[in-house]
Amino acid sequence: MRKKVWQWTGMNEVTSSTAEREQPGSGEAEIRIASIGICGTDLHIMSGHAGFGAPPLPLGHELAGVVERIGPGVDGWQPGDRVCIDPLIGCGVCRECLAGNKHRCAQAGEIGLHYPGGWQEYLVVPAANLYRLPDAVGFEEATQAETLHCCLGGIDKLDIRLGSHAVVIGDGPTGLYYVQLLKAAGASKVTLFGMRDGRLELGRRLGADVTVNLRSSGTVAAEAADSVADTDTDTDTGTETDSIAPETQDIAIDAAGNEASLKLGIELLKRGGQLLLFGLPGHPILADIQAVVLKELTLAGSTNAPQVWPRVLELMASGSVQVKPLITQHYPFAELDRAIAFARSEPDEAVKIIVSHS
Ligand SMILES: [Zn+2]
Ligand SMILES: [Zn+2]
Repeated sequence: MRKKVWQWTGMNEVTSSTAEREQPGSGEAEIRIASIGICGTDLHIMSGHAGFGAPPLPLGHELAGVVERIGPGVDGWQPGDRVCIDPLIGCGVCRECLAGNKHRCAQAGEIGLHYPGGWQEYLVVPAANLYRLPDAVGFEEATQAETLHCCLGGIDKLDIRLGSHAVVIGDGPTGLYYVQLLKAAGASKVTLFGMRDGRLELGRRLGADVTVNLRSSGTVAAEAADSVADTDTDTDTGTETDSIAPETQDIAIDAAGNEASLKLGIELLKRGGQLLLFGLPGHPILADIQAVVLKELTLAGSTNAPQVWPRVLELMASGSVQVKPLITQHYPFAELDRAIAFARSEPDEAVKIIVSHS
């Protein structure tokens, strides 16, 4: 039995082919992939600069589908079960793995980054990496459990009190998820900083009380903060726009990961505030550590969070976090190459592209 596969085959190149279907081994399940999220990480890997994985490799780590076959020793799963897949695989025996922190395992790798991913019709994965989808969560949305789980792990590292003021810097999918998570966690005023009006508009629909376009207001932190008063906000929200100033925020989430976003976050935090570092700079950047010390800020870095997957699905099923508004394009699996090309050429329009099997 053969299956259709898309592979990353060289710099910014994808090629379709076929491969033999694998038999699920002990503790494994074969998943018929239904939907795949296209992620900035995919484009980064394809550029050849990510430093992990090597072509030829099927990418794809934001995955949802249906259990097709189960291997020996797999309990609790039946063919036909609807699932999403945690792509992270640890060694299973080290201290971090045993403590439930497989993302900190020295041997950790990810399906679709280090190992063959879901750019194919069928994928064999450890059954321990499967999560059952609630009826209310469709396959396209379910692909986003992977992104959302990273964000929820970051939220868990913060002490968010009801009525907090928070800023999110970065208007990509993770920034838009953070806006929703902060509101769900009880923040009373969430300000979203970004570079694209369309994304900021979406941010307001998803709960941001105030949005600031850094491109039109200048990227220097002080100017950005000063210019908030000039920013258009949705009058329906009835929020004042002149109350964000340096040293006013309880929480800042840097979902952009560059020197300017870090500077802005540090500047806007009040004394004793908390800064979540989530966006990945990719190279060393400068930060005003003097301000961190003198303002007694708490800094937390965050990547994956294996423990939070069940709660992510609860948040999606209950509607506490909306995913559908972020899905801007849909492509059939046969046109995965076009989906990738669109993501690369139209980053402003493509918030989240989903590729699905018919
Ligand atoms: Zn991703
Ligand atoms: Zn381990």
